[in-house]
Amino acid sequence: MNEDLPYGSEIRTDYRTGEMCVVVPGRENRPKEVEEEDTAAGDLSKCPFEPDTVDRKNLEVMHTGGDHWDIMVIRNKFPELSGNTPLMSGEGFFAYTSGYGYNEVVIETPKHGEKLEDFDEGKIKKWLDVLTEREEGLYGKRYIKSVMVFKNYGAAAGASIAHAHTQIIAWPELVGTQRVELDRIKRFEAENRQCLYENAISKEGVRTMIEGNGFVTLAPFASRMAGESMIVPRRHVNYILELTEDERYELASTIKTVISTNKKMFGQQPYNMVFHELKSEKDFHFHIEIYPRLAKLAGIELGQDVFVNTIVPEDYAIRFRENFTQS
Ligand SMILES: [Zn+2]
Ligand SMILES: [Zn+2]
Repeated sequence: MNEDLPYGSEIRTDYRTGEMCVVVPGRENRPKEVEEEDTAAGDLSKCPFEPDTVDRKNLEVMHTGGDHWDIMVIRNKFPELSGNTPLMSGEGFFAYTSGYGYNEVVIETPKHGEKLEDFDEGKIKKWLDVLTEREEGLYGKRYIKSVMVFKNYGAAAGASIAHAHTQIIAWPELVGTQRVELDRIKRFEAENRQCLYENAISKEGVRTMIEGNGFVTLAPFASRMAGESMIVPRRHVNYILELTEDERYELASTIKTVISTNKKMFGQQPYNMVFHELKSEKDFHFHIEIYPRLAKLAGIELGQDVFVNTIVPEDYAIRFRENFTQS
């Protein structure tokens, strides 16, 4: 806890743009393991996600994974939001909400150095099941309006620990892209009587990377990042819980394919993966976005929110299909 803010952290709305930020003091104390080691060869005594260092009897453990765990969920030690924070908000010029919410960390494997794309399809499917279970748990908490799953891989993508993990953040309101995307989905539906994402699946054509039974993977028309991709279910599903068993297996193998093929094309690069979904909004269409971090964000991106993408999405899709079919 800090002296600067009454509730530890705050979600603030920018009076200039209407965009939100989370102000979290004291995060510079987080571990910085990744900077020293981006591979399996690190000092494991410093890794907080080793089987020996994670205390399974600890109350902070949300999903034990059993005696011989292969996926474990713990509370984030350095959370942006806290369930102990009273939910408060203020309107007006300095609009804010107190930093109420939850952060959890899904440790994907007990083996340091193993990566998500190394897992077989069954293990990745299990990871999806655990994510679903925890999302349900967090949606069950008071005042929680949206839950987001994301993965940072590599220091340049914001990961502070090398050991394979995914994060879940639960917000007391809809934030950022969730609001923007929901608004555009609703407008598109009203004007065209069709789901925006189902329209994208049918129209992206040359930018289609993988066509599966249940999922289509695209390089979106206006991708912000070089090598950006989006995995979209063909069926209208707004929330991960609604995916069938078959769809989960297909999603698992699709995620593995996208990350492995990107690695083949670009080498082992940092990346972010973000699940876009909203349990309460039936109009929303579930999708997963993956952004390799091949370039740094600079002035145009930060100052004007316009991204410079140096790989034409059409070309990325062509190269992806070539690399994918060769493997
Ligand atoms: Zn480790
Ligand atoms: Zn849809």
